[in-house]
Amino acid sequence: MGDFSLEFNEDQLQVVKWVHDFAEGVVRPAASEWDEREETPWPVIEEAAKVGLYSFDFVAQCFADPTGQLLPAVNEEMAWGDAGIALAIFGSTLGLAGIVANGTPEQVGEWAPQCFGSPGDVRLAAFCVSEPDAGSDVSQMKTRAVYDPASDTWTLNGTKTWITNGGIADVHVVVASVEPELGSRGQASFVVPPSTPGLSQGQKFKKMGIRASHTAEVVLEDVRIPGSCLLGGKDKLDERLASAREGRQAKRQAAMATFEASRPTVAAQAVGIARAAYEYSLEYAKERKTFGKPIIEHQAIAFKLADMKTRIDAARLLYQRAAWMGTNGKPYVAGEGSMSKLFAGETAVWVTEQAIQILGGYGYIREYPVERWHRDAKIYTIFEGTSEIQRLIVARAISGVHIQ
Ligand SMILES: Cc1cc2nc3c(=O)[nH]c(=O)nc-3n(C[C@H](O)[C@H](O)[C@H](O)COP(=O)(O)OP(=O)(O)OC[C@H]3O[C@@H](n4cnc5c(N)ncnc54)[C@H](O)[C@@H]3O)c2cc1C
Repeated sequence: MGDFSLEFNEDQLQVVKWVHDFAEGVVRPAASEWDEREETPWPVIEEAAKVGLYSFDFVAQCFADPTGQLLPAVNEEMAWGDAGIALAIFGSTLGLAGIVANGTPEQVGEWAPQCFGSPGDVRLAAFCVSEPDAGSDVSQMKTRAVYDPASDTWTLNGTKTWITNGGIADVHVVVASVEPELGSRGQASFVVPPSTPGLSQGQKFKKMGIRASHTAEVVLEDVRIPGSCLLGGKDKLDERLASAREGRQAKRQAAMATFEASRPTVAAQAVGIARAAYEYSLEYAKERKTFGKPIIEHQAIAFKLADMKTRIDAARLLYQRAAWMGTNGKPYVAGEGSMSKLFAGETAVWVTEQAIQILGGYGYIREYPVERWHRDAKIYTIFEGTSEIQRLIVARAISGVHIQ
């Protein structure tokens, strides 16, 4: 088990610097253009693949870091460059996380590399849970998976919504209900291989922020996949369903296992946006003069910056702790993963709003990046579990009461 340390070793420092340089040199200069175009930034993804940043090997290297700090640190740097492009590049990791959290080692070996492809043949992955009537409340999921033992195939039907990389992904990881009467305990995760007939993109959504990241509906119409695409395998599923039918305590649920693992990473992205806005407004406050002095010499502005920095550092410490716990198999006894995501998301929204205030009129116009950062920040209180749901998880963990 890795000791918890705030000091990065040489290797970690090197990787983080490499990613920071990419974020600064390639991502940030492209941010405004892809926000305006509201399209997947393929050239930037290609470039990331070319240098090895968008690759299964790189993500595997981050996952393998025994301190657990590398993956979130890298995410913070990329989101510092631009959150929309960072999600376009790291969105596939969510699909990967769905495979790693629920799949057998053979399934991970088969599908994980396909979530990324290779330079010149870039592939994407998507993780499809949410539905029009089942966002926070995944137990209401309507997408059905029906097994045919004769042909050892599953047939999926339903509509997923707000899916990052939905429809443009090569590998879709789909959570579906096998036994609806068991609610979320009757669900399982499936890999839908590339070009499987019946899977199509529905509407693509226009968004407030993270506009370089593709978000769309995924329609599943009689999607037939082999039995081997059930993540974790049939025996394990049958065992889990039997235990749910008998009312035994659930060890884990398919979708929840993925979200738990990814929360510190999502939190780190929010911290990256907040840091970008803080750094920008700090420099601005030193330059901009009113009443004969730089606005940073007005205590109201200086204190704002002090609070911004304090909250950013607190948010980072929370995600670092959660990442370390997750990697070292320490259970989140007080919902520490949720705490990190909750606090980082709300910090990003708050910090970016303060940054707009510090820039005054310049903060509100699109010529400056600050309003974009605020638009980008807002999603972090919504996706991967809203702030309310994170509070629910923490409240349940600390009280032992099933608060709803
Ligand atoms: C840009 C974007 C990308 C996304 N990417 C993905 C993706 O890749 N894959 C995927 O599966 N999903 C994705 N989502 C979906 C996202 O996870 C859901 O939007 C989110 O979980 C909230 O669900 P909902 O929108 O249905 O809100 P609802 O569940 O309808 O919630 C509405 C409001 O009620 C509150 N609320 C709900 N229940 C409670 C409760 N028990 N107590 C207190 N308050 C409550 C919520 O916090 C929220 O404020 C994405 C969404 C967006 C916008």
